[in-house]
Amino acid sequence: MERGAGAASGYPDEAYEEAGAALVDAASAVWAQSDVVMAVQAADLVQQRPELEQLPAQSVLLGLMEPHGNEALKGRLQERRLQGLALELLPRISRAQSMDVLSSQANIAGYKAVLLAASALDRYVPMLMTAAGTIQPARALILGAGVAGLQALATARRLGAVAYVSDVRAAAKEQVESLGGRFVDPPELEQKPGESGGYAQQASERFLSEQRRQLTEQLALADMVICTAQVPGRPAPRLIEDAMLTHMRPGSVVVDLAVAQGGNCEGTQPGTTVLRHGVQLIGADQLPCSVGNHASALYARNLAALLEHILNATPAEATGLHLDLNDEIVAGCLFTQSPVAVGGAA
Ligand code: NAD
Repeated sequence: MERGAGAASGYPDEAYEEAGAALVDAASAVWAQSDVVMAVQAADLVQQRPELEQLPAQSVLLGLMEPHGNEALKGRLQERRLQGLALELLPRISRAQSMDVLSSQANIAGYKAVLLAASALDRYVPMLMTAAGTIQPARALILGAGVAGLQALATARRLGAVAYVSDVRAAAKEQVESLGGRFVDPPELEQKPGESGGYAQQASERFLSEQRRQLTEQLALADMVICTAQVPGRPAPRLIEDAMLTHMRPGSVVVDLAVAQGGNCEGTQPGTTVLRHGVQLIGADQLPCSVGNHASALYARNLAALLEHILNATPAEATGLHLDLNDEIVAGCLFTQSPVAVGGAA
């Protein structure tokens, strides 16, 4: 374990030592002897970690790799005959739920997005009856009812907001309603975006244009908008254009969780807040990091569950990790593959 690696998340070195880990000053010392490296953000490993070159061929790398279009990492792992398992590619099936990093981190992002919006808002969120008059509850509009969107809905409801949720997947309606949200049905067009493996597919420009027209009415009534709509491997759908913001009440807030993929809302910028037409646009790209203690704990459990799954399938006589490519979970995550499936130094 790299010394100091958990410090910023509230996990001191002593805690790792107590749990039986050996601490090293620079993790580079152990790369050359490792069968498996577990990382958090592995996407820029080629640029940021020259130690990658010391990892023995056929070793396994587990981490978030931004696999769609990350040719630099893919190429180098293949050249070095390293086996990369990208956690973003984990199949969304029941038995993989305990390993699902995207879910554990998206849950955090959805929760924190609402807290950010509530704190930036110039209004109360719950309905209040005070001696000075009655306050109406804030109205939240949530775009996208995946993991982050549903957690945003649950959090907004806990704070007392009235919440409307838009999604293009038919299954989302029941989930939204079961959490006390009101579903905004997608536009009634013949060509709706398809669905594959529970994910939405890219919508046509005609569909998106109709959706924006429909959402303009919703935006005019909203106090906070939480943007979570995404299509894997594609730019995020543009659901709010600049001109639509002029319909919003000045003082209202948009939190865009899709900002790193181009944003659902025009004008949002990663990691910063900008004011457009009196509306605060919060580009929220790293929210799990702001809840680092729990984000780390959940990420670690996800990784441990995946590693345990791989170890259970590794024959006792194998000297390294054995990746069973017939296993749906392993095959799903496989980003790069070594020609020899059993290997690594002991
Ligand atoms: P995601 O982050 O890819 O997208 C977020 C949401 O945006 C999705 O619900 C998607 O339908 C929606 N979206 C896309 N285009 C849109 C548009 N134009 N307008 C409005 N909404 C739009 O999704 P996710 O959170 O990773 O979840 C994807 C699916 O996987 C969901 O069905 C979820 O329930 C499912 N899931 C299953 C498991 C499991 O069974 N193990 C675990 C986690 C998630």
